[in-house]
Amino acid sequence: MITTNNSPSPRPLPRPESITRPYWEAARQHRFVIQRCLDCDRSIHYPRAICPDCLSDHLGYEEVTGAGTIYSFTVTYRPPPAFADEAPYIVALVDLANGVRLVTRIVDAAPEDISIGANVLVDYMEVSSEVILPVFRLVGSAAQQG
Ligand code: ZN
Repeated sequence: MITTNNSPSPRPLPRPESITRPYWEAARQHRFVIQRCLDCDRSIHYPRAICPDCLSDHLGYEEVTGAGTIYSFTVTYRPPPAFADEAPYIVALVDLANGVRLVTRIVDAAPEDISIGANVLVDYMEVSSEVILPVFRLVGSAAQQG
């Protein structure tokens, strides 16, 4: 269990447990993995103990490209205290090619550069000595303006 955060920020950190540990360990290695049901083949995110479709507990992880599109987004101007230094920041719903929709941050982009349908690619944000978060950044023409 990761419990320490050596930065002065009180930023909350994920606490990997048996089901989620493969996701966080892959992120530490800059690999993006998504849980998959080995019985019905559905991709699953967030990680769970059983498949939400067929209730199988025969689940594994597969590495995916991390390419996606923005389904929707919001810009946070008034964040909780732990994230005050990062505002404004963008929180988005990103659709992956495997059908997974996940909540994530869009990094290195101004709010005016974001649009629904924009192409994004996974990247990695080190938030402590032990935790790396998968985040996303714009790709294509929108990303090349800055
Ligand atoms: Zn299933």
